[in-house]
Amino acid sequence: LAQDFDLDVVVIGAGYGGFDAAKHAAENGLRTAIVEARELGGTCVNRGCVPSKALLAASGRVRELNDRTRLARLGIHSGGATAQRQPMADHARQLVDTMRTSIGKTLKRLGVQVLEGRGRLNGPHGVVVRSARGIEREITAAHVIVATGSEPFVPRGIALDGHTVFTSDEALELSWLPSWIAVVGSGYIGLEFADIYTALGCEVTLIEALDQLMPSFDEDIRKLATRHLIEARDIDTYTGVLASKVTPGSPVQIELRHAASKELVDTLEVDGVLVATGRAPVSRDLNLASMGVATERDFIPVDEGLRVLKDGQPVEGLWAVGDVTGKLMLAHAAAAQGIAAVENILGHGRTMDYRSIPAVTFTHPEISSVGLTQEQARQEATEQGFELGSVRSYFRANAKALAEAEGDGLMKLLFRRDNGRVLGAQIYGLHAGDLIQEVANAMAAGQSVQQLSRAVHTHPTLSEVVEVAYKQAAATLSS
Ligand code: FAD
Repeated sequence: LAQDFDLDVVVIGAGYGGFDAAKHAAENGLRTAIVEARELGGTCVNRGCVPSKALLAASGRVRELNDRTRLARLGIHSGGATAQRQPMADHARQLVDTMRTSIGKTLKRLGVQVLEGRGRLNGPHGVVVRSARGIEREITAAHVIVATGSEPFVPRGIALDGHTVFTSDEALELSWLPSWIAVVGSGYIGLEFADIYTALGCEVTLIEALDQLMPSFDEDIRKLATRHLIEARDIDTYTGVLASKVTPGSPVQIELRHAASKELVDTLEVDGVLVATGRAPVSRDLNLASMGVATERDFIPVDEGLRVLKDGQPVEGLWAVGDVTGKLMLAHAAAAQGIAAVENILGHGRTMDYRSIPAVTFTHPEISSVGLTQEQARQEATEQGFELGSVRSYFRANAKALAEAEGDGLMKLLFRRDNGRVLGAQIYGLHAGDLIQEVANAMAAGQSVQQLSRAVHTHPTLSEVVEVAYKQAAATLSS
């Protein structure tokens, strides 16, 4: 690497994308610094995965303890349990502190310089860091990795006050509990919060602009999950409807309009509104335009090896990873991209395989997916001229799920009928988030359902749901 720079690598942003990039670079002997404007750990650790899962651990437990039908089947009589907001929030905060401290220690141990402040680019090799006090210093590096992540996206017409109308950033603090809350958006963040709020006894109304709830999921999985996670919990829903105007206050006023015709559908007065309408990339203040790099809706264009693209060509020495690239806005995807970018800096020629990266919605039960949905797979089959195979495996036929009195669940597996390769899977049911990993591994390794069907699974475990799917799929090929 060039000697005329201060360092080998400077990373802007210390979320999982930036952290894993800096860690991997330092572990491989590169002189590395990381610039962070807020807290180490980024969204996931401070305002995302980590605190939300701490709250979901409590909502899941309290739901179990109050599921009298299931408990009665297991022979348990429970007096009913309640979750308490403040201790739940304390648990989340402590976990965040632990994770953040651990990241700081790792960076220190590896000799990564941590520069506190906001970074902006000065050409592909220069980063100007502005501290909170306004002091600027420039640092140069052979390689700059942009990992500035994302922030809540708030549609026009919705006014936030951070108290009665808020995003996941504030919701995770659980500083109060609205007795009636409207959740705008039925993506994974909206669904996870609906799980938390209903377990805490709040009345929840879910508002989705698209015609269906959980629009990114397979139809069968969506129907089952909607029945259990929404209808059975008495969550009111509006679909095909926009929260066109939300005015904070007590109560909060919401104007609902038909998404297509924009006609007024309803007005609501609720205690609180959580805006969970997606995430927007953070790239505006990076100075990319001065280098001729054109962002797409603020996402930074990158090639398969995470090189930043200018007019379709890589900019030498400039990389971007994580949510800001808009590929798969998940923590493990950001981390994998961070490592891949550094591998490419080291000259190892790595490309990302996004298809085998799984995604999980941590409701109770969970919903998970990897690869293509049925609609996407059908399209690929038509384009590439192969026959599509699809099988279902039910939790109600699984001894472990039945022993747990949790037989509501379904796995759908999609595969190519010409070579048996797995194209995707979606699971709704107990521990779906852990089960999907087996399919993700098989996809990453390019294994066929014939090979996979020969692996013996432990009895009785939920993993046999996956085994049954593989066996059924293989049987359709040999018959
Ligand atoms: P971020 O984590 O957003 O980090 C970017 C960092 O860059 C931030 O710390 C920011 O302060 C810093 N920064 C930005 N601009 C500058 C600048 N100019 N100079 C210096 N620093 C800068 N994902 C999962 O995989 N599983 C989950 O269960 C999950 N749950 C989630 C729950 C919620 C409520 C939310 C909001 C997100 C969740 N996510 C989850 C998504 C996950 O948090 C993100 O995909 C992940 O954090 C992306 O990592 P990143 O490194 O790209 O960016």
